[in-house]
Amino acid sequence: MSDFITKEHETLEAMISLYCRECHRTPEDALCDSCRELFDYAKARLEKCPYGEDKPVCSDCPVHCYKPARREQIRQVMRYAGPRLLRSHPLLAVRHLARSLKKPPKGPP
Ligand code: SF4
Repeated sequence: MSDFITKEHETLEAMISLYCRECHRTPEDALCDSCRELFDYAKARLEKCPYGEDKPVCSDCPVHCYKPARREQIRQVMRYAGPRLLRSHPLLAVRHLARSLKKPPKGPP
């Protein structure tokens, strides 16, 4: 797995964990069943992302490969965890923010 994908996994896990801990009251280092399923789903999408290392943040993606229900779920997680990631994982938060400021692609790769 490339460094890029590994970092993306880390960010995804940090955001879903933060959301699950604070919104579902799960203990540290655990995910509830629903968040575990979302994490596994999102990881699988990430590994198959057609943009590879040029991947935009998913919210800016013109393809959006998530099923609608999953898309809504991850949107909720990102909306909650995005602004809060800065205090728990400042480096991941800055990296994610920098990527979200990049111009999104106009269409499929
Ligand atoms: S939503 Fe777009 S950027 Fe995100 S994994 Fe799917 S294809 Fe890649």
